[in-house]
Order: sequence, then C-alpha cells, then structure tokens
Amino acid sequence: MPVARTRSGAGVPATDEAGVLARLGIRREQDLALHLPIRYEDETRITPIGAARPGQTAQVQGRVARHEVLTRPRRALTVELRDDSGAIALRFLHFYGSQLRQFATGNRVRAFGEVRGGLFGLEMVHPRYRLVGEHEPLPDALTPVYPTVSGLGQARLRSIIRRALGALDWCETVPSDVLGRLGLPEAAEALRAIHLPSPATPADALHERATAAWRRVIFDELLAQQLSLKRARAARARHAAPVLADRTRVQRLLAALPFRLTGAQQRAWHEIGTELAAAQPMNRLLQGDVGSGKTVIAALAAAQAIGSGWQAALMAPTEILAEQHLRKIGPWLERVGARIAWLSGSSKESDKREVRARVAAGDVDLLIGTHALIEDRVAFARLGLAIVDEQHRFGVVQRLSLRGKLEAAAALLPHQLMMSATPIPRTLAMSYYADLDVSVIDELPPGRRPVRTRLVSEARRDEVIARVRAAASTGRQVYWVCPLIEESEALDLQTAIDTHAALAVELAPLHVGLVHGRLPAADKQAVMAAFAGGSVQVLVATTVIEVGVDVPNATLMVVEHAERFGLAQLHQLRGRVGRGTGESVCVLMYRAPLSAAARERLKTMYETADGFEIARRDLMQRGPGEFLGARQSGEALLRFADLERDGDLLEAAREVAERLLREHPGQADEHLRRWFGGREEFLRA
Ligand code: ADP
Ligand code: MG
Repeated sequence: MPVARTRSGAGVPATDEAGVLARLGIRREQDLALHLPIRYEDETRITPIGAARPGQTAQVQGRVARHEVLTRPRRALTVELRDDSGAIALRFLHFYGSQLRQFATGNRVRAFGEVRGGLFGLEMVHPRYRLVGEHEPLPDALTPVYPTVSGLGQARLRSIIRRALGALDWCETVPSDVLGRLGLPEAAEALRAIHLPSPATPADALHERATAAWRRVIFDELLAQQLSLKRARAARARHAAPVLADRTRVQRLLAALPFRLTGAQQRAWHEIGTELAAAQPMNRLLQGDVGSGKTVIAALAAAQAIGSGWQAALMAPTEILAEQHLRKIGPWLERVGARIAWLSGSSKESDKREVRARVAAGDVDLLIGTHALIEDRVAFARLGLAIVDEQHRFGVVQRLSLRGKLEAAAALLPHQLMMSATPIPRTLAMSYYADLDVSVIDELPPGRRPVRTRLVSEARRDEVIARVRAAASTGRQVYWVCPLIEESEALDLQTAIDTHAALAVELAPLHVGLVHGRLPAADKQAVMAAFAGGSVQVLVATTVIEVGVDVPNATLMVVEHAERFGLAQLHQLRGRVGRGTGESVCVLMYRAPLSAAARERLKTMYETADGFEIARRDLMQRGPGEFLGARQSGEALLRFADLERDGDLLEAAREVAERLLREHPGQADEHLRRWFGGREEFLRA
C-alpha cells in the first residue's frame, strides 16, 4: 500500500509527506516498521530541577515563574521554570509571539533537553517542551528518535510509525527452531520492542543495539542479504557465457612480457584463464595489494577473450588510471594483434561517435576508458569480458551496467573480472561478496623493497624540502600530495594551486608539475607523461593520483596534512612509491595537535604496510561503507548490522538462507520483499 494513503489529517498534503518519506527510503507501509530509531530519549521520568546536573539530558517539570524577552546582545526569550527543588532557565533564540502566551506565569511546563551551567544557574537551550495539566501521565516507553529530514518532525514521524506498527501483520519467516537456538524473539515482537522499548530495557544494550530485539532485526537484515546474494548467484549460473578458450595470444603475450609472472600471479591467472574457458559467466574479484601486479593479469584475460573472437572492455575510475592502462596494456595487446580504442567523458564528441560505431560493428577488440563505457549509447557487438579496475571506487549500479552490455544483445552474460587493491576483511567478503569468487595475489614482484614511513610534524617542513631536493639530485622523482579539504572542492583546488606555486619557488630550479581532478584531460595527460618521462621531477597532486598510478622512478612521497586522510587512502597513496627497485620513503607530514583517531591512523601507517591489517583496522574505525563504494551508489547496503560486532549472526544467516531457499522458498520471497522491496538489484554487483 502506498504510504501516502496512510496519513492522518494533520494538515500535511499527502503528496508532500509521501515525498518526504521517500527521501528517507520509505515507500511502502512496511518500510515504516523497518525505519528504526537511531537513539532513545527517556521521558518516562521527571528529574527534580534541583537534582539536574550540567551535561545531563533530562526532563524537568515546573511552573513558569516569569518570562522575559531580551533584545541584547540578540533577541532571545528566557523562561524561568520552578519546582519545589529549584529553578532553571529555558532559552529560545528563535520564537513566535504565540509562545509568549504559552509561557504565561503559573503555567505548568514539561521540558526535555540538555542541562547546561549558564552564567546565572542552570539552563536549557531550545528544549523540547509542552504545556501539561495537573496530573498529566508520563509515557510508559522510551521515546525513539528516528533519522529524519527537514519537513518531517520527530513527533509526526513517531505517530506515523506507531500507527503502522499497530496495523503490522507479519507472518514469521524464520523457523522457530532457529529462533530458539539463537535466542531471538519473533519479528513482530522484536520490532515493537525496538520502536517502543519499556523503560526497564537496559539503556546501554538498547543504544548499542545489543538487545535480543535488535539482534533479531540485525539477523533479519543479514538473512535478507544472504538470500539475495544466493538467488543472484543461482540466477547467474542459469545464464550461459561465451566460451573463451583460445590461448594462442595469451602464450604470445606471456613470451613478450619483460618479466616472469610471480607464483601468486600464476595461480590467479590459472583460476581466471580456466573460468574464461567455461560456458558459465565468471564473476571474479582479483585482489592484490597495491603494486602486486594485477594489470598484467587483466591483459592476459583480455588476450584470451580477444583470441577467442570476442571483445573485452576495461573500465577504470579515473582518467589518469584509464590513460595509464591504455599506455601500458595497449602496446602489449597491440603486439598480439588486438585493435584497441579509447573512450572517456572528455573525448571529443566526434571521436566518441566514431569509437562507438567501431565498437558496435565489432571493429574494436579492447575498449579502454572511464565511466563513459557504460553510457547507454555504447553497444558492443560481442562483449565477452568486462574488466573493472579498482572496483570499489565504482557504485554498485555502475558495475552492474557493464555486465549488462551483452545481455541486451544476446542471451549470454559476459565474464566479469573485477580488480581491487583494497583488501576485503573476511566478514565483509562473506557478506557482501558472497556472490563473488576471489583470487588473491599475495606476493609482490621480486626486488621490491618496503617503503619506509616517516611521521614528521609540519614544523619541520624545511627538512622535508631538503629531502625532496636530495632525492631529485640523485635522479629520483617525488610526489607531493596536497592536503585534503573535505568540505569544499573549490578550496581543495585552490590549495593545490597554492601549494604548487609555493613549491615551484622553494624548489627552483627543479621542475614542479601539478595535477588535480579539475585539470582538462589533455593537460592531465601532458603532466603525467612529463612525470613518467622524467622531465618533471616533483609532481604536486591532489588525491587523483591515489589509485593505480605507476611511475617506478618515483621514490619519495610527501603527504601534507596526512592526519586528514583515511587509512585506505593513505595506504593507496603510499603504494605509489616503492614500485621500482630503489629505496623508497613516504613522509606523512602532520599538524599537531592530533585527534585520537588521527593519531591512531598515523600509528597504523607507521607500524604496518600490510594491506590486510590496514583494512582490518580501517573497518574497525569506520565501518564498511568505504569498502563497498556505498557512498557512490547512494544506498547503504547494511543499515543495522555491524560486521565486526555481528559476525556470529552472519554465520547463522548464511546457513538459514540456504535452508529457507531449499525448504521454504515462499518464506524466502516474503523476507526479501520486506527488506528490499524493489532494491535487491543493489546487492547483486
Ligand atoms: P597493481 O596491482 O597495483 O595494479 P601493477 O599491475 O600496476 O600493480 O604492477 C606494478 C608494477 O609491477 C608495474 O610496473 C608492473 O609492470 C610490474 N610488475 C607486474 N608483475 C611483475 C612481475 N611478475 N615481475 C616484475 N614486475 C612486475
Ligand atoms: Mg592497478
């Protein structure tokens, strides 16, 4: 039932309210039941004013002793509230004339808010309040606070949800023996206990989502995810894929490479090459730390597809990275007779049109580029293999659409190879990637020396400059990464330009280049080529160089304001050096004082270079969003579960999903409908 029809006559036009609810992801009546509180407030008790303490969130009740409108320093309303034990001031900086009447002397007011120690005693700023009668009862459940958006107040949302809950008619989807074994309540009961918890519920457990009711909901969410992934996997297995079995070009490419594959690369390639030759679509993640050599594996896979008479596509998240693939893989594959084309958003319109025509006619064997590859207008004649580099940088939808490029044309699904340097902790792999097979390159090419990491306070910038000069004087090259300005892209850009100007003076006569996201593609290309060729010795860059850039002669990296970067980002950045055989150094420059979290991140970077360990600590500090590109897709995939905390439930959910699909497919359907409505697609990447 559409939500719009459930509104009561509170004067909000139905369409508006439906629109506001849709912004919260609530489209159906049952979505309301799953719109869960972020926290709770205890309005079941009144704190005597004299017992309220600054810093505490409390509910007080008393009579208005007086009120006063100040005009200086700015307009403000102050209401003095008294009970038998003391007095407190309620302050309002924004108020209406009607409020003055409410605060007539002698009126009885109940107020909820944070108590502060003001200049003249206790106060509450903009408390929630209402007028109450003599024996007004207190609520008998904790008050849930919901995520909301402007245009929909807590009180209104609460009443909509409460009504939906009253009408909730959910059959149980999980077998009772499972619930018994896990000690979980029934679904409907759990939801009521979460929306309207009794005051006896331990507040800590409730807030940490550790009550049995919360665990039930978390279990259900994980179960829905597992069901969806297993369904997707089964659906994929029913599709056929092109058989890419001709290895002659692979052999020629291997023979032409300037190096031998490492053992780990050989193992990964064996897995991938074998799957390409089968008639089921491959859906494989190639995972290897930065610098482990994933690109060559992609090239081999493309060679096998092309040699078998099919097309391949390689999509990368940035122009710089796609460009670099073109320069590196291009010549390798041209040597084995492949026709390569390039497509990016910034290509000239006429070029794009021409490339699209050739791709559609089957006159291109390998198409390399950025997001432009997944535009609707791009149609492949015979797409056999879709490769997505740095897959976590893409949204889920984007990853899906490349695979869709063949389905439209034939009843076949192309093989899909995704690559990532961001290691996925085990729990994540088990949950989000249950639909993916994983190959791991766990060995670096020979001769690499570990990057030494130095933590240096900004106060010692002069020493860092001297170090840059010294590196350049021995013919080495340097990355200088600009501070990240999260809140403003414009400022970010300006900082990069300023940093470049300053360094060009400080480091003269060295040649200092600048690359950032807003640079026109041709300029970007020119700077990167000059750096790769060695005529630019120092490259000032924003995080656009974070992924994939490969200039082995660069052995020093300076990261300014390293405390602002996330762990995964720092690890990726540091991976830009240490790619050749020279000794490499990464200087993480920070500004004191450091926050506890920043200190922890820098310490991690200093202590370890192991991508897995870094990912694990990152997951602990930040949650899974970043690993999954959830930000780009705009949909957080798990709303309630926390994989570190709820690992035990995840294991159980995997088993139960298996069993439901086998024994109770109807219940599995119902469970999926509840949790995802029409959004299951997002889980299938
Ligand atoms: P990543 O896995 O981070 O994408 P790349 O594929 O860019 O790493 O490889 C990093 C560097 O190592 C490249 O210069 C690549 O040519 C080189 N390389 C890859 N495999 C080997 C190998 N087996 N032996 C020596 N060098 C290799
Ligand atoms: Mg790479």
